[in-house]
Amino acid sequence: MRYWKTEGVVLKNRDYKEADKLLTIYTPEGKVSAIAKGVRKLKSKMRGGTQLFTHSQFVFYRGRSLATVTQCEVLHPFTALRNDLNRFACAAYMAELTTELVPEGEPNKELFYLLLTCLHLLQNYPPGLVTRLFEIRIINLLGYAPELERCLSCGREVQDKIQFSLDQGGILCPHCGKGQKLSVNISRGALASLKALGSMDLDKCCRLKLSAAHERELSVLLGRYIELRLEKPLRTREFLSLMNNSAE
Ligand SMILES: [Zn+2]
Repeated sequence: MRYWKTEGVVLKNRDYKEADKLLTIYTPEGKVSAIAKGVRKLKSKMRGGTQLFTHSQFVFYRGRSLATVTQCEVLHPFTALRNDLNRFACAAYMAELTTELVPEGEPNKELFYLLLTCLHLLQNYPPGLVTRLFEIRIINLLGYAPELERCLSCGREVQDKIQFSLDQGGILCPHCGKGQKLSVNISRGALASLKALGSMDLDKCCRLKLSAAHERELSVLLGRYIELRLEKPLRTREFLSLMNNSAE
């Protein structure tokens, strides 16, 4: 199949050669790197459909190394996200998370529709709330769901002085959390919001009341949790190669 047609969201868009762009597009079938030829010329018909965050219908041609965009038609331009700095920053962060966390060539329809839904929500709902919603959902969909119900270590329900273990991925009671370097405090309110964001219907989530303090708390916690997850596979590989080398 040299030509294929699919919808997609533009995650990255860099200038390439004189008039082309090199795009990273997220589709339900996975990430696609593709060249859009002549797209920086004013009269190019593909200008609109290849803008950052735009949801378009694409036709790709599979070349020897990279794919080429041969046609594209805008389905949703998300103009509001490019005209508001705060919303733009949140959309860029969601695009980066998708680029970095999702393995190359891995189809994931649920994740594609999560990104698309969150970009739609980001136009009308508080950016911080939508971004926290996206973070917890992408973590859950990629298999990094943290334990939020009981202490990871002893299995007890935790009422207060709750710790969140960034490396073990979940909550700890004050006893089990003692001396854990990679754990942070999490308030009951923030934990309740995190649980709701991770489990409720997406359209109900955006009507949740998330206080500024809880939003900041979750922003720091989820950011650090994801950073650690991003490093983890690399560290494991390094560790493995170290072990292999020493065993030789
Ligand atoms: Zn415990």
